[in-house]
Amino acid sequence: MNATMMQALRLTEWKSDPVLTEVPVPEPRGSEVLVKVGAAGLCRSDIHIMSSPPGAYPYTLPFTLGHESAGRVAAIGPQASGARVGDPVVVYSRWGCGTCWACVNGRHNACARTQGGPHGGGLGRDGGLAEYLLVPSARYLVPAPGLDPVQAAPLTDAALTSYHAVKLSVPQLRPESTAVVLGVGGLGHMAVQVLKAITAARIVAVDVRNAALELARAAGAHATLPADGLTADDIRSETDPDGATVVLDFVGNDATLALAAASVAQGGDLTFVGRGGGELRVAPGLIPFETTVRMPSWGTVPELAEVVALAAAGEIHSEAEVYGLDDAVSAYSKLRHGEVLGRAVVVPGT
Ligand SMILES: [Zn+2]
Repeated sequence: MNATMMQALRLTEWKSDPVLTEVPVPEPRGSEVLVKVGAAGLCRSDIHIMSSPPGAYPYTLPFTLGHESAGRVAAIGPQASGARVGDPVVVYSRWGCGTCWACVNGRHNACARTQGGPHGGGLGRDGGLAEYLLVPSARYLVPAPGLDPVQAAPLTDAALTSYHAVKLSVPQLRPESTAVVLGVGGLGHMAVQVLKAITAARIVAVDVRNAALELARAAGAHATLPADGLTADDIRSETDPDGATVVLDFVGNDATLALAAASVAQGGDLTFVGRGGGELRVAPGLIPFETTVRMPSWGTVPELAEVVALAAAGEIHSEAEVYGLDDAVSAYSKLRHGEVLGRAVVVPGT
């Protein structure tokens, strides 16, 4: 490589917008792999991070944002194996310790030892909103041949996290079952497609925005409900009088969690995914008996490979708005105000 410096969108201060700065292009050492970023997705959780006061996250500033990345292998460290220069890849950005029981069992998303520290690329360590991204090991890369990076990047969180959340409830999602998706944003619009692709359940999608409900219908939702003034009875009338078999909350504020608790069926699953700052209380009378409450985070590397296969087969497709690195801060602002349909994706170098 000739370039020694690159542009990177870095969080330099808490409760502030990130800043586009020049940093050195990292050199892969040991088992590290350098990826030339083709595209990186913007996530609502980034906004949560940048809006937080010091101490809310166990991250040291500055670091480069971006935890949804796709590109090509640009260079490999002397001990790296499993990746070749030029390989098209997507990057799994939840980097575990690699040695705890969860990591050894492939559940880097449940790593017991990185709960209190940086969580991966763009999450306390340098991420993909830059021209190059240094990945600690090829074990965090999944081959993505034939996929446009703009399509591929959102697979690594928006699709992976929603796939993992849906997959945990697959035994519940029989043909007569009903699934409710609260919030048809970056994750929710993928969740509708995943439900359609891997289950036979009736899908009901809820959002405040008409355009998002249209997106949900295009993605395969059987019914859509505007969130404004929505009651649990309204949801029951579209799902089952007994309640919804599975409610997936991709918003996660107090209002949506209360709606989820009131509309899930006894014996159903209530899955709390969105980081909307809400709190779910669990007690008899507050949620039905025999209900399983889950709070999934990300998915696993093998699940990312499954998601890539679904995308390659045309079963899932990320709706994307494309921005340059220069426009990333204004794209975050649009995302903050609910003005992005699907996923905002940054293509560095444009
Ligand atoms: Zn671990």
